Amino acid sequence: MSMPVLALRGLTIFPNMLLHFDVGRDASIRALDRAMSEGAPLFLVAQKDLSVSEPGFADLYPIGTISQVRQILRLPGDNVRVMVEGSTRGRLLDLVRTEPYLQGEVEELEEPVQARNTPRTEALIRSTYELFEHYVELSPRMNGDVLIQVMASDDPGYIADYIAQNIPMRVGDKQAILEELRPVRRLEKLSQALSRETAILELEHDIQGKVREHLASSQRDYYLREQLKVLQSELGEGEGDSEIQEYRDKIAAAKLPEEVAEKLRKEVDRLAKQPYNSAESAVSRNYLDLCLELPWGKKTRERIQVEAARKILDAEHYGLRKVKERILEFLAVKQLAPQLKGQVLCLVGPPGVGKTSIAMSVARATGRKLARISLGGVHDEAEIRGHRKTYVGAMPGRIIEGIRRAGSCNPLLLLDEIDKLASNIHGDPASALLEVLDGEQNATFRDNFLEVPFDLSDVLFITTANTLETIPRPLLDRMEVIELSSYTDEEKLHIAKEHLLPKELKRHGLKKSQLRITDDAIREIIRGYTRESGVRVLERQLAAVCRKAAMSIVSGEGKRSNVTAGTVETVLGPRRYHPDRRDVEPQVGVVNGLAWTQVGGEMLQAEVNVVPGSGKIELTGNLGDVMKESARAALSYIRSRASRLGVEPNFYKTRDIHVHFPEGAVPKDGPSAGVTVATAMVSALTGIPVRQDVAMTGEITLRGRVLPIGGLREKTMAALRNGMRTVILPADNMGDLEEIDPDVRSALRFIPVEQVDEVLANALLTPTAQSVPPELGQVPEQSTQPRGTVDLKQ
Ligand code: ADP
Repeated sequence: MSMPVLALRGLTIFPNMLLHFDVGRDASIRALDRAMSEGAPLFLVAQKDLSVSEPGFADLYPIGTISQVRQILRLPGDNVRVMVEGSTRGRLLDLVRTEPYLQGEVEELEEPVQARNTPRTEALIRSTYELFEHYVELSPRMNGDVLIQVMASDDPGYIADYIAQNIPMRVGDKQAILEELRPVRRLEKLSQALSRETAILELEHDIQGKVREHLASSQRDYYLREQLKVLQSELGEGEGDSEIQEYRDKIAAAKLPEEVAEKLRKEVDRLAKQPYNSAESAVSRNYLDLCLELPWGKKTRERIQVEAARKILDAEHYGLRKVKERILEFLAVKQLAPQLKGQVLCLVGPPGVGKTSIAMSVARATGRKLARISLGGVHDEAEIRGHRKTYVGAMPGRIIEGIRRAGSCNPLLLLDEIDKLASNIHGDPASALLEVLDGEQNATFRDNFLEVPFDLSDVLFITTANTLETIPRPLLDRMEVIELSSYTDEEKLHIAKEHLLPKELKRHGLKKSQLRITDDAIREIIRGYTRESGVRVLERQLAAVCRKAAMSIVSGEGKRSNVTAGTVETVLGPRRYHPDRRDVEPQVGVVNGLAWTQVGGEMLQAEVNVVPGSGKIELTGNLGDVMKESARAALSYIRSRASRLGVEPNFYKTRDIHVHFPEGAVPKDGPSAGVTVATAMVSALTGIPVRQDVAMTGEITLRGRVLPIGGLREKTMAALRNGMRTVILPADNMGDLEEIDPDVRSALRFIPVEQVDEVLANALLTPTAQSVPPELGQVPEQSTQPRGTVDLKQ
């Protein structure tokens, strides 16, 4: 029988079975078409070598299956999907054609018919069932339905064909079953193949099981962990574990007091329960970081040796003899009684006189770390004591922050500008500071943010201030005050030469030989470019000189710079300050007064004009109440003494008096201008000129007594700076002259006075009044200003 032949690659079809497969080869598609169009059978036969694309007769197995094409489905591209049904076995006798498709001569093969199954056959069938059942169980790809189909039949040939069709086996094995025509033999062959396949499946299972077991034991953890990580990162909770552990380790490693450690451990527990990115966790983390950063119990070795300290102080500071002595005394006490705690030094003086740098030297001399805390403008208690950590942006107070910066628990904390503390409705920072400075309380200082006590008892506190007047009394009482005062020009010269200039040279990378600056040049800088009590501006001007020198050396103008008094202007530009062109001629109604301000002494002129009028008094020049009252007291005194002073007795009805202090923008206050105003008024009323080389200071009473004043040292320096020769001062202040710089003392003449009359006698050109005893009983004796009130200026 001649029919089209289709060569199968890797497939076998058995009689009575349906098979779907895709066909791609051109010859195969043509063969299919041919069979389909003629309704003729098609011979399907496996090819021996799958790689042969155009098989000939020798490439095909001899036995195949005569089949019917049931369906052809054309797929996109040239492929065709086909469904065929096997009918009977056939033998390919010959290929009659190979173009355009294979056409072969096929002989149909009859199967021997068997009447009944022998028991042996039956047994074979059963055992095959069982085997197949087991196989289906093991094979993940097999559907349970195939079993039912097999069970329904007792034909060994069919069973063999069916099973062979449905299980994956090597093509060679399938072909062997196809070629076996005797049904029982065929089933036997199948059974053998099946049992081999089953054994292979069992082995596969075994291997897979073992692999899984291995994974379970050694890699399960790893997988779980990896999965956990993925989940956590999906939830944004990564790093959680290691972070918590890190905190725990740090707490264990730090030398914390038990109370603190306990508190921190609780905080870590709380952190562990919070989502990673929550606001609360940020607060906790911030808190833990800060607490762990604090130097709990971490001390630097303190060394107190007065002699060594003296060397350091002397090496770093010119002059300041008394200040250094006081500091060394303080250290000596500390050396002898280290257990004595809570002493606080307060360095008071104008800006730039070396308060900060003295404190730094003390830190160096005692081997303590130093942290500066500025208190200027602090008006909220929380700035000292911190905010509770639940506040948004909460931070510890400045004290704890200072400790953190210092990095040891026994540093020197320098509290700058303690006189500039302010208080408002948010509480009084001064009282918080009291607790900080109090040796009894500060061992358990509680910062609101920290919540746990921190021991401040080993801290050495040094405070600085420009004036004692505005320091709250309780604070002042707790401190040991050391005053630093203005420098004279000569002192400034020494400081500049011995300290500032070497520092600036080094800072600017200059060698000593590269910048020569004469003493006169420095004097010129001090006089013409600075007007200050300290040496800050001087330091800046010297820095400017160094910059210029560095510039000229770098730009190749010369190898070295020489600065002399004559060339200062070319370096620093025109002079800033000129010696006051003061009238040296005696003047009517103009008197030189001396004032003390936070930035040092100053000379203030009082001017008085008297014009016809109705007895009005006008006080201008931005005067404070105390100063105004002091002027009225002066007026009152003059009225009570009018005739003796040579003043027209009715002047207070017929004249208007105007008292003015120049530089009206600068606020002035205090009682110490009393004598100045009185003298100016008398001069203006009598027309007697006042000597302009005389300066004065002193408070007056209604009855003309002159009361002592403060700030004498600064005031006398201002007098000298302004070219005065004579200073009239209250007799009670004579004792203070000891304090005054020897240079100043020898350059000035001092006239101590007890009464205003004596002032007038010395200041007015022609004495108008003799010393007259006060008219007792006329006016009760009374100071113009109760003592002890706070004056900004005296
Ligand atoms: P304050 O704290 O009183 O405002 P600083 O300590 O900041 O003043 O001093 C300003 C500069 O002047 C610093 O460089 C300091 O070293 C220097 N200085 C002040 N007084 C002296 C002195 N007596 N000897 C050496 N240098 C000084």
